[in-house]
Amino acid sequence: MQCSKCGNPKVIYKRQQSGQLLCKECFIDSIEKKVIKTVKKEKLLDKGDKVLVALSGGKDSVTTLEILNTFRERNIIDICALTVDEGIANYRQDGVDIAIRHAERLGIQHKVVSLKEDYGISLDEIMQRDNHKGSCTYCGVFRRTIINKAAREMHATKIATGHNLDDEVQAIMMNYLEGNINNLGKLGAKTESDAEEFTVKIKPLREIPEREIGLYVVAKDLEVHFDSCPYAMQSFRGEISEVINQLTQKHPTIKYSTLRGYDKIKPVMKKEFKTDYAHGRCERCGEPSSNRLCKACSFLEELGV
Ligand code: SF4
Ligand SMILES: [Zn+2]
Ligand SMILES: [Zn+2]
Repeated sequence: MQCSKCGNPKVIYKRQQSGQLLCKECFIDSIEKKVIKTVKKEKLLDKGDKVLVALSGGKDSVTTLEILNTFRERNIIDICALTVDEGIANYRQDGVDIAIRHAERLGIQHKVVSLKEDYGISLDEIMQRDNHKGSCTYCGVFRRTIINKAAREMHATKIATGHNLDDEVQAIMMNYLEGNINNLGKLGAKTESDAEEFTVKIKPLREIPEREIGLYVVAKDLEVHFDSCPYAMQSFRGEISEVINQLTQKHPTIKYSTLRGYDKIKPVMKKEFKTDYAHGRCERCGEPSSNRLCKACSFLEELGV
């Protein structure tokens, strides 16, 4: 057995979908090149951008930061980072500490915002009061609002998230199966909104499978928080992920074909289904919202906060 690219006998990875064998150096190189290719193909970055990286300290966000930093080193973009502390006991603090260390190592502006400090309630406390919506619904809405606000405060022109191939395929399937065509139309490598207050979101890792990101951080010896969120398996996303991974064992290219199929029908969907972006303002917090209250504030009202 030898590396398909350089002949090195120390192979660390066999790529399922292509059968390609890779040594450590060629594997690292292949991931970085693929991310750079996505950035170029999808026009994710413009010279002079200030990119806010949503940095949880997990493998995906650390990889996003690490690879986008190569653009910063070449003076193409500037980077800042934000870590959201949702208030999940015995889980989140380790990620926050790791995020702080990465920001210090690279010398980038970094902010930690806690759900408890910003909204007066932690995710654990929310789950004690009401869990019919599921933890990830609350978590996603509050995190999105916090990230959007921080991007404006830090004058970021783009928000980069660590969504990988698996995340994107799960989102496509979840929204499709739930008949949520509005959200389905908002996926993709770059999500823009016509509301000025929303910063453009980019997903540089969108074509990298989750397991390859796991191997990348190990191969590069990057410190990451590997634990899973204690709420993760309760979610519909967890169930979908299991099904897709089972299918992938027999059909190794299925994640890529789902993604490519989605990219082809997205322009048609955008034409057919108007995506409802917010045009008004939330009465309670002033964030963009189509209704009287934004989603975060309506959750707070329901929870009596
Ligand atoms: S798994 Fe759900 S609750 Fe846990 S961090 Fe992710 S979105 Fe939040
Ligand atoms: Zn090699
Ligand atoms: Zn609000």
